[in-house]
Order: sequence, then C-alpha cells, then structure tokens
Amino acid sequence: MKIFNTLNGRMEEFVSLKEGEVGLYTCGPTVYDYAHIGNFRAYVFEDFVRRTFEYLGYRVVQVMNLTDVDDKTIRRSQQEGVTLREYTDRYIQAFFEDIALLGIEPAEHYPRATDHIPEMVAIIEDLLAKGIAYRKGDGIYFDLAKFPKYGALAKLDKAQLKSGARVDVDEYDKENVQDFALWKEAKEGEPFWETSLGKGRPGWHIECSAMSMKYLGPTFDLHMGGVDNIFPHHENEIAQSEAHTGKPFVRYWLHVHHLIVDGTKMSKSLGNFHTLRGLIEKGFRPEVIRFLLLSTHYRKTLNFSFDALAQMEKSWQRIVNFQTELEGTLFGEKETPGLEDWLQESRSKFRAALEDDLNISQALNTLFEFIKEGNLRLSRGEIGASAANLISETLKGFDSVFNLLPRGGQGELTEEQKGLVEERNRFRREKNFPEADRVRKLLLDQGILIEDTRNGVRWKRA
Ligand code: AMP
Ligand code: ZN
Repeated sequence: MKIFNTLNGRMEEFVSLKEGEVGLYTCGPTVYDYAHIGNFRAYVFEDFVRRTFEYLGYRVVQVMNLTDVDDKTIRRSQQEGVTLREYTDRYIQAFFEDIALLGIEPAEHYPRATDHIPEMVAIIEDLLAKGIAYRKGDGIYFDLAKFPKYGALAKLDKAQLKSGARVDVDEYDKENVQDFALWKEAKEGEPFWETSLGKGRPGWHIECSAMSMKYLGPTFDLHMGGVDNIFPHHENEIAQSEAHTGKPFVRYWLHVHHLIVDGTKMSKSLGNFHTLRGLIEKGFRPEVIRFLLLSTHYRKTLNFSFDALAQMEKSWQRIVNFQTELEGTLFGEKETPGLEDWLQESRSKFRAALEDDLNISQALNTLFEFIKEGNLRLSRGEIGASAANLISETLKGFDSVFNLLPRGGQGELTEEQKGLVEERNRFRREKNFPEADRVRKLLLDQGILIEDTRNGVRWKRA
C-alpha cells in the first residue's frame, strides 16, 4: 500500500511496525459545540482509511482523543454556569450520536484529556528535568531551540523560528513560530488540577502526545488529522514526544484537506458551516452526506454545495437499487458465463485503487462499473441464485470500505412467505391467474410486494 507521507513529503510504501496490525491515532473533537460537516470530512476520511486497512487484512488499533479542556470549553461552560465536566459530557454524547449516524466504525479508545492529567504531567516533568522545557510567567513552555528537528513536518524555514518568544494560545499561525505552552498555571475562576507542577491545566498539544503514546507506545504507525493540524499542533506533538522518549514518534502522517464552501474553509468562526443535524433536518440522509464527504481524494479540497449533495443522492440510489435487486429477487438456478473472472477482476481493481494512496475516484469507478455490468447481466436474465449471492457478497465487500448501504438490508422472507411465493408461481404456471392474484394479495397484506422479472420473482417491503 502506497500513501503520501507528510513527514517526508512523498509517496511511500506503508509497512506496519507489527505485522498485520496498524496503530492509528486520530486527533478528535474539541467538545465545546456540535461538530460541523467540515470536521466530519476528516473523521469520515479517517474511517475510510481504517476500513481500508481492515479490508486489506490488518487489525487496526485506533485512538481518538476527546479534548474536554481548553480555552473554548472553559469559556462556554462558565457562560452557562455548569461544570466543565457537565458541559463537555453533553457534546461528547452528541459527537457519538453523530459518528454513529455517519456509519463511522468506533475506535478502540476514546480517551478524555481530563482523565489523563498525570500522564501529561509526567512528560512535562521529564522535559523540565532535561532542560527542554522552562517555567516563565504563568506557565511552562517548550524551548524550540532545544529541539533542532522542529519544523520538519510543516517544512518551516528556520528563520521563522522565534525561540524565546512565547505563545500560550492553543492555535497560532506560521508567522509566530514560538515556544509554546505545555502547562498553564491556574487563573482565577478557571478549573485547575493540583499536581506536582502546581495548580494548573495542560496546554492542548501535550494531551495528544500523552494519550497516543499511552495507548500505542512511543513509536506508532500512523497519525492523521486535517491539514490545519500540521502546524502548530502536530509539529508540537512531535517535538514533545521525541524530546521525551528520544525515539521517532510517528512513522506515517496523513493529512486530509478541507471541506470548503464558495472557496473558503468551512469553519465555526466564519459561520459558513452546516451541522450534520441541520442537514438531516433539511431531509438529507446521513449515508448521502457520508458519501459526499468521502467522494473526493483526501489531498484535494472538497467543495460543499446542495447541488453536489443532490448528485450524490442519485449515485447512492444506484448502489442501493442494485443491492435491493440482488437481495430481493428469488432467483432460479442458472449458469452465469464468465462469473468468476468478472468478480475476480473487479476485486483486484478495487484493491489496487485503495493501495494507490487511497484512490477514491478509482475505487468508486470500479464500484460503478461493477454495478453497470451487474445490471446488464440482470437485464439479460443471466443471473441465477448462486451467482446473485456471489455478486452480492462482492458488493458488500466493497461496501465494507464505503459503508453506504443501509444497514440490515431488507431482511429475508419467512418460510411461510416463501411458501406463498412458491404457491403463486405454481398457480401462474397453471395459468390460474385469479388464484395467483389472491396469493399475491395475501403477501401484500403482510407488507410484501411481489414483482415478476426476467430473473425470477422480486420482492420488496411495501
Ligand atoms: P477542531 O475541532 O477545529 O480541532 O477540528 C477537528 C478536526 O476537524 C481536525 O482534524 C481539523 O483539521 C478538522 N477540520 C476542521 N475544519 C475542517 C474543514 N473545513 N474541512 C476538513 N477538516 C476540518
Ligand atoms: Zn491532536
């Protein structure tokens, strides 16, 4: 599998540390509000990568942090007059509801920052002891001058580094590459932790170092996030972690580009955002929203528009119709010429697309070619029961990566219902149409709608 590794700025062959297993860290939400679908582009893409590894036979151990302490969560909880924990619990709950709607497979670990203060303190203590961190003003800072590799991920120009100058906000820009805060001393009215460093709270960046290494070890395979995380957040994660352990932190970094609206990044502060809930209230299905978020390669920006959503709805319907036809037809037995070759070829094209830096367009092309060919064969009446099964299994295999098909499908007919279908077939063969219609009506009364096709009887839930 080839992926574009931000660290070295080039395409590389992915080789996991442990055979057959991928250690994956994905920066999670700051739980101060509902996430918008821009955030979900990142999470849906990460889910696609996770599912791709699983499709390729790896076991994935994924960690996603929940940032439940920072400037924003503190400010908002104070405005509402509730504790930080009460406030963030609400948005953690909302986040889990949203990712379930989007068909995101749960990570193995969702550590909360506030449950890992001792782990963060331990790293900061060590950096202080090594003279890489220093105490000044009302905080503890990471000294950029002590970490010569600083800037390698974001390809920063050394001249940009202003070591000695300090920044204590969590997010800052490339004009201000400064010593950043690891720890902030308690301020009047803010929540704080009583620790060996004194009373205070951690900066944002240290949480991801502490929680990733706790669950995945000092060196792990893959770290993902949005491109806006490259600097300063991921650059700082590398600095803190490697200065602490003396080992390489992450082997491969993948960054997903932004979801944009009319040329600008979708973001809370610009107000140009949609939440998942908002779009669902407007009548869009979560599967279709997921499809739109997935549809563009991760190294390209993706433009959000309602037209694009409507377009995706149509493509999505084609996949669902094909699956409904395969699952809902009671096929007879029949030889399907060239079946194995066709399935085999489709599967290997699909795999090759994924292994080519997660080439989503190629993977979707393969899927829609497959559906087109399948529909052609259905219209020619070439499909028998066992072929339909194999085609459906192949389709579900592809969908294990996309996860777009409605979960559960339409289920199966009961034995009694199958018996009624058989009975109706017999009446039809005997040209006893009034009786055939009577049985059809019996099935309809049970909510089963019967249609006759070239391949056999097709049923749907009415
Ligand atoms: P935040 O809550 O802003 O820290 O963002 C959480 C995740 O969503 C990060 O990985 C961001 O890079 C990502 N993100 C934020 N806005 C967008 C956007 N418009 N498009 C894609 N990813 C985004
Ligand atoms: Zn992070």
